[in-house]
Amino acid sequence: MNHEKSHKAFERARQLMPGGVNSPARAFGGVGGEPVFIDRAEGAHLFDIDGNRYLDYVGSWGPMILGHGHPGVIAAIDAALRRGASFGAPTLAENQLAELIIEAVPSIERVRLVNSGTEATMSAVRLARGFTGRPKIVKFAGNYHGHVDSLLVAAGSSAATLGAPDSPGVTEAAARDTLVLRYNDVDAVQAVFAQHGSTIAAAIVEPVVGNMGCVPGSLEFLNALRQATARCGALLIFDEVMTGFRVAYGGAQSRVGIRPDLTTLGKIIGGGLPVGAYGGRADVMDRVLPAGKVFQAGTLSGNPLATAAGIATLTTLRDTDPYPWLEQLSDRLARGLLAAGQRRGVACRVGRCGSMMTLFFSDRSITNWDEASACDRRRFATFFWNMLDRGVYLPCSPFEAMFVSTAHTSEDIDATVAAAAESM
Ligand SMILES: *Cc1c(COP(=O)(O)O)cnc(C)c1O
Repeated sequence: MNHEKSHKAFERARQLMPGGVNSPARAFGGVGGEPVFIDRAEGAHLFDIDGNRYLDYVGSWGPMILGHGHPGVIAAIDAALRRGASFGAPTLAENQLAELIIEAVPSIERVRLVNSGTEATMSAVRLARGFTGRPKIVKFAGNYHGHVDSLLVAAGSSAATLGAPDSPGVTEAAARDTLVLRYNDVDAVQAVFAQHGSTIAAAIVEPVVGNMGCVPGSLEFLNALRQATARCGALLIFDEVMTGFRVAYGGAQSRVGIRPDLTTLGKIIGGGLPVGAYGGRADVMDRVLPAGKVFQAGTLSGNPLATAAGIATLTTLRDTDPYPWLEQLSDRLARGLLAAGQRRGVACRVGRCGSMMTLFFSDRSITNWDEASACDRRRFATFFWNMLDRGVYLPCSPFEAMFVSTAHTSEDIDATVAAAAESM
């Protein structure tokens, strides 16, 4: 496969942008090489600037659950654009998207639209601190909540470690009130709430992790977290930026039957345009300005184009209910990948929830960050490049989830499995 134009474009990009990209996840750093530059997309396929075609399992890292260029989404954006790209004033479309979100996710009684997932988690954490008057936040190693200073802490393996910042520029002061626990560790949850309960404002968690590869939270763990937060008057924040409208129309919380106090959303609710949202209990959300005193604002929040794309995406998902079909396709893909590994004598495991999944090169099931980070990264890199060569575009990191969309077909899945058997 020829990547000459991408290579030239990346050389130029590196002189223009840090590392040649506007977000590190797309730089192919985890697989040792240069990214391909995308020209356009259609359905389940990407086309790069050298004219290569790929079956896309990244879907813009989650938003494109209906595939690229869905006619309903295009028509909605087009119509919105003609009425005006942005007003900075209330619109009926904002009511409509808020209604769709509130109807889909019962724990969300009020919602505020923002412009990215990062903005949503940052605002939810501020609100939790404002509501409880407490400083500390509990998070879990390997969970990603956007690049919020206080959440850019991954840290320790077993017990609670007081957060040390993950990035230069994040002060110790910003990280000091973040307690990092091991994911799926019930004992750690109980211990930290026993010790720090009265100073904890909230626990924030990905109920199904997408950001250390796909690792579902156990029911026991998520229930323990719900009980521990409730008992000490802390809030439970489900970060469903990735899982919202992905693993089920009502998000991961509808699958496990747990009602968090606050939920953050993003990705799918913008149908591919930049958006985020946070919402939850009315008594908590009514503390946000101008109903309450917790400051949060946005010039482009509730932007007409993003809102239109979101409404078109959510109504399509609601009216067509593609989730049973996505489950079937994804199960077929997961089984196929595992069988390919078995045939080639390569130890692998699949972490999956609905249409998000990760193939881990490991001989044990993955339940937390220590186990995920012990997977065979070299083998993943080889697999990634072999798949790209065969026209399959996977996430360029062993610690990301791949996504199946409604534009994928059974034939696409079978072709992917065949490519995988040659690529391991
Ligand atoms: C993508 C993601 C975010 C950050 O969203 P951005 O729009 O990239 O800022 C936060 N939390 C989770 C779980 C995510 O997957």
